[in-house]
Amino acid sequence: MMPIFSVIIPVYNEEAVITESYNRLTRVMQGMGEPYELVFVNDGSRDATAHIIAGFCENDASVRLINFSRNFGHMPAITAGMDNARGNAVIVIDADLQDPPEVLPQMAAKWREGYDVVYGKRSKRKGESFFKKASAKFFYRFLQSMTNVNLPLDTGEFRLIDRRVCDAVNALPEKNRYMRGLVSWVGFKQIAVEYERQERFAGETKYPLRKMLAFAMDAIAAFSYKPLRLATTLGFIMSLVGFVYMLVVLFQALFTERIITGWASTMVVILLSQGIVLMILGMMGEYIGRIYEELKGRPSYIIQEIVEKEMSKPE
Ligand code: UDP
Ligand code: MG
Repeated sequence: MMPIFSVIIPVYNEEAVITESYNRLTRVMQGMGEPYELVFVNDGSRDATAHIIAGFCENDASVRLINFSRNFGHMPAITAGMDNARGNAVIVIDADLQDPPEVLPQMAAKWREGYDVVYGKRSKRKGESFFKKASAKFFYRFLQSMTNVNLPLDTGEFRLIDRRVCDAVNALPEKNRYMRGLVSWVGFKQIAVEYERQERFAGETKYPLRKMLAFAMDAIAAFSYKPLRLATTLGFIMSLVGFVYMLVVLFQALFTERIITGWASTMVVILLSQGIVLMILGMMGEYIGRIYEELKGRPSYIIQEIVEKEMSKPE
């Protein structure tokens, strides 16, 4: 039987939480009374995660496990889930129970009302460090100011989308997939459902600062080229300042005795302008690297195997 709901759960070294997530998701999905599938995408875990999920598959035909050949990242894992989901409505949820599965019936109700995208909006974030909350808050607002696409604020990957939206996003050719941005970009009828983001059930965050920064840069590069325009703006300002200063220097040289001084100011100008030039070169490098990445056309993930319970009679 084809599932109505596909639940995608990206997992990376989540052995500490995965059983609890499976139990709670199963309880909620069974309560909804429609056929569903749980699609676990194992993003190259090095602990017992894959083994534990394979155990679920043996007893439960609604569980599927997609094993990656190595760690490709959170967005590629969601991409693989969406490529393989079979339901009419596709749900994405974190494995660590920070997104409470109990919100899903509410999302499904909105979908029944005719909304194509129902995204979770974090009204509160519990149990996360001050730094994480503050940087996330700043990041979403900064990104908003950088792009012309209307990206919803304080929204993660927790959402339900209609099959049409899933197909539209899957059809996008780009490999750098800032998924919440793409889902917003494709349009359709969208609505938010507010929820309180919970504390991680167990284990540690798989997003250390290094990954968060790379993620932020990916998102900005994918949705804005304003950073590139910074070169034009700064270049213009610096030329203007330079021109005015030139007039001052000429005036001093022609009409006063005060010449030759100013080694310090020369150094300041050189250092400053060099810094700015290097910064802008680096920024261009960020984009060029991403262009190269897309150009190579490598897939964003590689599947090692798919595990599911053998059906006695295929559909
Ligand atoms: N995750 C993943 N691959 C990664 C990093 C994370 O599949 O390389 C999964 C992780 O298992 C979890 C979800 O993405 O289900 C969100 O990660 P996490 O909870 O660690 O991020 P945080 O909530 O701290 O931002
Ligand atoms: Mg989390």
